[in-house]
Amino acid sequence: MSWYERLKKNAERNAEKKRMYLCPEPEQLDNLIKGLTVNRERYGYPSCPCRISSGILENDKDIICPCDYRIPDVEEYGMCYCALYVNKDIHDGKRPIEPIPERRPYEKVLGSLGL
Ligand code: SF4
Repeated sequence: MSWYERLKKNAERNAEKKRMYLCPEPEQLDNLIKGLTVNRERYGYPSCPCRISSGILENDKDIICPCDYRIPDVEEYGMCYCALYVNKDIHDGKRPIEPIPERRPYEKVLGSLGL
């Protein structure tokens, strides 16, 4: 099984376990899984495809997918920062996918940039 297939399957299982759904837009979902696959191959771990990774595991632990911010973001906004994981309303098209604020602390973002 390729990394793409593995990561997609993991995301499907994880969504089911947490009673969430995956992005309902097939092209967006495909791009997100491709992004995770690239990061898995590049860094050795599937860090968030919508954020900049440092490539240093210690700095990136909080953004290894599913990241530490997924559950509060899905609870508050109905989707994670990338919209890989969404709630039922978004999955069913009752609410649109929209940008949400970054919950990751600013110091961690700067750390990933090496600042
Ligand atoms: S924002 Fe979504 S896609 Fe990105 S790491 Fe968190 S759960 Fe994964």
